[in-house]
Amino acid sequence: MKLILRGHHLLCLKGFQGYGYDEDFTENMSDINSKRKLKNTTVLITNTPDDICKACPNLKNDLCENTAQNERIISMDNEVLTKLDISKGYNSIELFEKIDEIFDSKESVSKICFNCMWHDKCLFYQKLSNNR
Ligand code: SF4
Repeated sequence: MKLILRGHHLLCLKGFQGYGYDEDFTENMSDINSKRKLKNTTVLITNTPDDICKACPNLKNDLCENTAQNERIISMDNEVLTKLDISKGYNSIELFEKIDEIFDSKESVSKICFNCMWHDKCLFYQKLSNNR
């Protein structure tokens, strides 16, 4: 099993608890969240539309909403990508363990999560918040 995931979606998946933009999006995100927990899943990391974006109502002509928003999303992805080796496929379990090690405080995610509308629904962000 192979998944293609944007950098910032690695954090979103850790915080996912069933909320999303619409039913198709949530169903797809739930499916990916299950697959990323399988021990034979490989993850390729990107800063372009991924397996989550493809079921998202915000994706239009391969852009997230519009040019300005798309650039903001890419910069969030790049914050994560700079901390990983994007030339290789990661074992999913190991990758998400690594994410926990790298992003272990509210400060460590400040450039990625600062403007997110899902703060109050994101378990990952809330856990970091509670640690501070
Ligand atoms: S299109 Fe934008 S809002 Fe939708 S999943 Fe992708 S990055 Fe998130």
